Amino acid sequence: MAETTTIEWTRNDDGTPGRTWNPVTGCTKISAGCDNCYAETIAERFRGHAAFPKGFDVQIRTTKVNDPLTWRKPTRIFVNSMSDLFHNEVDQHWIADIFAVMAAARRHTFQLLTKRHARMRSLLNDPVWIDEVRTRATGKGLPADQWQWPLPNLWLGVSVENQQWADIRVPALAQTPAAVRFLSCEPLLGPVDVSEWLGDTDSDEPGMYRDGIHWVITGGESGRKARPAHPDWFRSIRDQCAAAGVAYFHKQNGEWTSRDAVDAEAKASAWDEKRVLYVHPADGRTQTHGQWGINDHLEGWACVQRVGKKNAGRELEGRTHDAFPATA
Ligand code: SF4
Repeated sequence: MAETTTIEWTRNDDGTPGRTWNPVTGCTKISAGCDNCYAETIAERFRGHAAFPKGFDVQIRTTKVNDPLTWRKPTRIFVNSMSDLFHNEVDQHWIADIFAVMAAARRHTFQLLTKRHARMRSLLNDPVWIDEVRTRATGKGLPADQWQWPLPNLWLGVSVENQQWADIRVPALAQTPAAVRFLSCEPLLGPVDVSEWLGDTDSDEPGMYRDGIHWVITGGESGRKARPAHPDWFRSIRDQCAAAGVAYFHKQNGEWTSRDAVDAEAKASAWDEKRVLYVHPADGRTQTHGQWGINDHLEGWACVQRVGKKNAGRELEGRTHDAFPATA
């Protein structure tokens, strides 16, 4: 498993690549965003090999747990790119140990993303579990007077692929103590309105942190079976972040690009009806060109073309969006 990563949102401020850290590997699918999970594809491809002896079965990598304590140069670290730390097969004492490493390795900034929002919220609000993290952290070298909760160097995020999961996971994140809370809307599979959670909120719900969500990442799906996104979905989230003054990062368009974005020269050579789909703005369903009936109308549907992840690029209406949270 490579430990440096090309993931754009893990990049350091000086432009150098960040790292991944996988003290746990393996997972099970939980929602539509998991359908084409890249971690599963890689782990199952190498099942039985040294890197993934048990494929995508959930496994604690005991020899990896303390790795960040040995990395001298401060860096951003994406935690568990090959798993979900809050999976129910990961013992909570191991999760406490992994949090203790993050507490003790204060020079690094950790980015932890989950689809298991409920277990995350429950553990991170549990005083007994938090005390276990503190005890383990001091055991790993953190001076007792430097203990802080929430961990100042941990950015905590939930995945949001559509409105259904936004409505469930985002409030759970807003009820979880974290120095930075972020959303990863990738792969984005439908329109999402998260405006009520962005930045300072006036929610009266019990347990809600009023500083809300600090950072949003969007991205289209990549890979062989990638589903296309409607460009309006990205634009809408970009605009919601701008209105709330929240940092916005557009990671990639995915394998597809809207026909408007294919420049004139490429259109002439690369336009290929077999690679074209129409994407519905409200629910993401797709149709091929041949499926259009004579009475169908195109209003609101996006015409997208499969051009490959590299060609689809990272631009949204002619510019990139690379903001990191202000508290970083
Ligand atoms: S939660 Fe993440 S790692 Fe687990 S199956 Fe879904 S996409 Fe893959």
